[in-house]
Amino acid sequence: MRLVHRHSLEEKNKEDSGLIIQQLQQNIENIQCRVDKVCQISHRSIDSVQTICVSKSVDELTTKAVVDLGVTHLAENRTEKFLKKYQALESYPSLTWHFIGNLQRRKVKDVINKIDYFHALDTQRLANEIQKRAETSIKCFVQVNISGEESKQGISPEEVNSFIQDLKKFDKIEVVGLMTMAPIDATVEELKYYFSGMKKLQTQIASKKLTHAPCTELSMGMSRDFEEAIECGSTFIRVGTDFFKK
Ligand SMILES: *Cc1c(COP(=O)(O)O)cnc(C)c1O
Repeated sequence: MRLVHRHSLEEKNKEDSGLIIQQLQQNIENIQCRVDKVCQISHRSIDSVQTICVSKSVDELTTKAVVDLGVTHLAENRTEKFLKKYQALESYPSLTWHFIGNLQRRKVKDVINKIDYFHALDTQRLANEIQKRAETSIKCFVQVNISGEESKQGISPEEVNSFIQDLKKFDKIEVVGLMTMAPIDATVEELKYYFSGMKKLQTQIASKKLTHAPCTELSMGMSRDFEEAIECGSTFIRVGTDFFKK
């Protein structure tokens, strides 16, 4: 009796995980398809856009499953969860890790030497801590509050230039680009307005050819707005919900 029961449970689990893998595979294909389409429309090469899988809402097993399906860029936004995932996925050497959230200064030392990109640099105090703790130069995005919403983190567009100028003294910080989040309720017109504003800012900074701030990249676009972001020049999109929806 017990054995039969256990057997059918195992079968059920197998079926469930099969379903999940199928769903993940389909989600990945859908995202890739949307990226390909908008790249074509915007006359951009597919290689010019990196899709980062934001795995913050799922467990280690599901994260491993997307990696097994070919995902190579992963992002987390909480220190504890990042460290757990990082350890669980240690045997996958070709992963690129992104930290996309607010990073408390006292947590910098736990995270900074494990990640490839940090997307939320927005204070000199945080930069100072990174400088102190980093063993090598860290690729950072300066977070910009492009819409001016009070609830949003980030440097105001007017202050970005001087903020980046002041980062020159930190040899452990390389400003690879700018990052932003659009307002949740933005219309398509507003999205394009904000995202193209970011593109202008990024181009302007890049044109200065600062050694510490090449600023060639743009981290913008999430599940609901990555098409508009790509149209406006995004090079790293950060997609969570659409990878893991059922
Ligand atoms: C959660 C998160 C994302 C992913 O958002 P989705 O809408 O789930 O695609 C992207 N960027 C940041 C900073 C996030 O915190």
